[in-house]
Amino acid sequence: MLLESYKKEIFRPECNPSFQSLHCIAHLAQDITDALPYLNATLGGFEYFKEPPAVTFRIHGKIITVHPREIAVNALKDEEEADKILQWLQREINEAWERRGEIKPKYEGLPKPKLLEILKLLPKTNCLECGQPTCMVFAALAAQGVKDEEDCPALNEEKKGLLKTYLSRFEFDV
Ligand code: SF4
Repeated sequence: MLLESYKKEIFRPECNPSFQSLHCIAHLAQDITDALPYLNATLGGFEYFKEPPAVTFRIHGKIITVHPREIAVNALKDEEEADKILQWLQREINEAWERRGEIKPKYEGLPKPKLLEILKLLPKTNCLECGQPTCMVFAALAAQGVKDEEDCPALNEEKKGLLKTYLSRFEFDV
């Protein structure tokens, strides 16, 4: 077993202690650097960083970042949820490491939509109907998977279909 144990730390975001959601950091007892590309390959990391090494997952509205000696999870409901996620990740890390002979390591994240490709399909009138100050802001949100073709009321059917097709090529969440 590569990752044998960790020490969990739970806290509220310092920027706004009144936030209801919790953050969690797990301090890992073992260094899992070498397992990161295998974990990325098996779980489909959203982003992969080579230096320093880290892999990020976006799962059900949470961002989980796995570093060599630390796992960070945000937007947690409670401590029980933190425990479930950390136990699941420990299993996944150890399984990926055990099976490393069969897994092709992956050193990249998922492909991302291009902001300008999205912008090209929008009316570019900055009409505010979507609640965003400009089409550029809308495009940036769509590139992150927060908005989609249904959120721009000014799109005609043809452009709506094209934007839907373009965005469907990318995975935003698991
Ligand atoms: S509704 Fe569409 S056209 Fe209007 S600002 Fe938003 S993205 Fe641009």
